[in-house]
Amino acid sequence: MPTPTSAVKSKPVVRSAELPGSFMKSLFAGALPADVVFPYPRQDAEARETLDLVLESFRSWARERLDGGAIDRAAAFPEAQVRDLKELGILGLTIPEEYGGGGLSITAYCRLMEEIGHHCAAIATIVGAHLGIGSKGIVHYGSAAQKKRWLPGVAKGDPLCAYALTEAGSGSDAASLKTRAVWDETRQVWMMNGNKRFITNGGHAGLFTVFARTEIRGEDKISAFVVTRDLPGVSTGKEEDKLGLKGSSTTDLYLENVPVPKDNLLGEPGRGFKYAMEILNE
Ligand SMILES: Cc1cc2nc3c(=O)[nH]c(=O)nc-3n(C[C@H](O)[C@H](O)[C@H](O)COP(=O)(O)OP(=O)(O)OC[C@H]3O[C@@H](n4cnc5c(N)ncnc54)[C@H](O)[C@@H]3O)c2cc1C
Repeated sequence: MPTPTSAVKSKPVVRSAELPGSFMKSLFAGALPADVVFPYPRQDAEARETLDLVLESFRSWARERLDGGAIDRAAAFPEAQVRDLKELGILGLTIPEEYGGGGLSITAYCRLMEEIGHHCAAIATIVGAHLGIGSKGIVHYGSAAQKKRWLPGVAKGDPLCAYALTEAGSGSDAASLKTRAVWDETRQVWMMNGNKRFITNGGHAGLFTVFARTEIRGEDKISAFVVTRDLPGVSTGKEEDKLGLKGSSTTDLYLENVPVPKDNLLGEPGRGFKYAMEILNE
């Protein structure tokens, strides 16, 4: 079986200065800009020390409490382990420190995810959906008021976050999504209607970053919203069955005449698709 290193060596290696376009474009064209990714990004001594402490605390907890095989066989959301992760602060590790998070860099986060994934793919999926995609919209594009309102809770894993882009007819072609939010001038809310599909953490999340079509200055554009589970008209569907990730939650998200408050619009109206792709790229 080829090792990861031999697989890497089989791609033509180019320097980033020679790239025909972006890093991703080069990968798709079969060229690996190795100087961008190797060696694994170095961290300064202090960051390294913090990461070592985090990894050690995770490992010692995992030895005692985490059996990935048992979680998969149970095929149920691992409530007890997720509660522990909240207490350990794992669910807030990349949230900025000023909001009660650990302020971990993306490099440290990747290292942690590698460790979590080694023990349990379902837990890695739950943490990844919460930190890697579900809360990123607020961290990157939220206003100061939005960050202050939601991030301290998110840093404690309460609410758990989810990212809602995919729909039944819109997966790879994400820009074709049909969920729509229409501005209601009288009520000063965005009335949202649509169904999202395959939403990780769906059955347990209290906060969803939702991408929906909106009319912005006469143009049809996608915008990003924070939709909380307590809003009327928000519900989730049955759990999807899966292989290997059975402990993670994957559901539909139904949005039926949801009055999304105007303060829940993330960033600039009409920039939602760019935000959605930037979050996924990261
Ligand atoms: C376990 C799990 C968790 C997920 N979690 C989330 C989540 O948290 N949030 C979220 O928004 N989404 C989530 N998704 C959805 C995921 O992002 C989509 O499944 C993905 O975008 C692919 O869409 P699709 O399943 O509709 O497949 P399709 O887009 O229908 O693709 C089906 C197949 O056709 C191929 N294909 C598609 N277009 C082309 C083309 N133009 N040319 C050639 N081949 C093509 C694809 O490569 C694929 O093999 C999750 C999915 C899974 C399975």
